[in-house]
Amino acid sequence: MTASELASEPSTWPPLREELRGLQPYGAPQLDVPVQLNVNENPYGPSPAVVADVATAVAQATGTLNRYPDREFVELREALAGYLGHGVAPAQVWAANGSNEVMLQLLQAFGGPGRVALSFAPTYSMYPEYARDTNTEWVLGHRETDFSLDLDAARDLVLERRPSVVLLPSPNNPTGTALPPEAVSMLCEAAASYEQGGLLVVDEAYGEFRRGGTPSALELLPRHRNLVVTRTMSKAFALAGARVGYLAAAPEICDAIRVVRLPYHLSAVTQAVALAALRHAPELLGKVDVLRAERDDTVAWLRDQGLQVADSDANFALFGTFADRHAVWQGLLDRGVLIREVGPDGWLRVSIGTAAEMTTFKNALTEVMATEEGTR
Ligand SMILES: *Cc1c(COP(=O)(O)O)cnc(C)c1O
Repeated sequence: MTASELASEPSTWPPLREELRGLQPYGAPQLDVPVQLNVNENPYGPSPAVVADVATAVAQATGTLNRYPDREFVELREALAGYLGHGVAPAQVWAANGSNEVMLQLLQAFGGPGRVALSFAPTYSMYPEYARDTNTEWVLGHRETDFSLDLDAARDLVLERRPSVVLLPSPNNPTGTALPPEAVSMLCEAAASYEQGGLLVVDEAYGEFRRGGTPSALELLPRHRNLVVTRTMSKAFALAGARVGYLAAAPEICDAIRVVRLPYHLSAVTQAVALAALRHAPELLGKVDVLRAERDDTVAWLRDQGLQVADSDANFALFGTFADRHAVWQGLLDRGVLIREVGPDGWLRVSIGTAAEMTTFKNALTEVMATEEGTR
């Protein structure tokens, strides 16, 4: 075989890393259907006033696009710190293109060969991909059948595997379960107790949707220097298209990430959009209460149908169980409603949309459950 024949062999071309061969890129299907309740977006778009202000800010930024943006995004850090409150200082804030990029940067800086990243299933499906992409060993513990964490078992696993990074969404995706503060403190202490120590990353992508009485891990930042709390503007802030995520942590952690970030990773346009949106925070977050009420109604309605539903502090509900969840997912899709086939076997996840969208979802599910045999 000649060199060029060898290079055109399907198994060796392109010369991809061995462990990436045959893998599919992550992502929920992006289908153009009337009711899209599959990626936990906020169904309410920005008002004309917000659109106008963002457009003005982008126009201003456009006038200086010949220059690189502020690499340290000082103004945005100040605005995000102000939004978070809890005494968080600008030097404790880091931002990137979505909290997915923030978490990848965390693994680039704190993971790597010979190091371990740990989470507890069911958990966010992107985490193992950051681990894979940074050559970090991926270790998965398990949640209980009610999706809570057995704290003693979780601590034991941390002490045994000594992860450099523990990734825990709270509220959890795909279950909606929030972590109690005792769990955060206990795992921070466990991860601080061995040589080198590890970070506990509490991914609060859905933090703004928490039910009353569920505290944020931000409250614990002053007590644990290895605690990282990540947030996003994609969900409650209704800004998924802008790609802005951020974290709050000790300044030393933010400084360490600066070593691995790409130069000028946050474009001037992104910074301008995020700053303008933060000026309208009360309005953009104004629909959070509506969505939380709709979430509670949806959970109650699903239970009335005799289904199991995980308690949710997020803008989605995980429900089941179905003998053939794919048939139910497809039945809903056939009726113009796209939800997510994710989570443990037999379960499905629906994002909370507008009242009208949830009515369409409920009607479609009622039909599917009445007509598709053998799905329960
Ligand atoms: C949606 C989501 C995010 C946010 O991702 P972005 O990159 O900020 O859009 C982060 N973590 C979890 C668990 C999520 O579900």
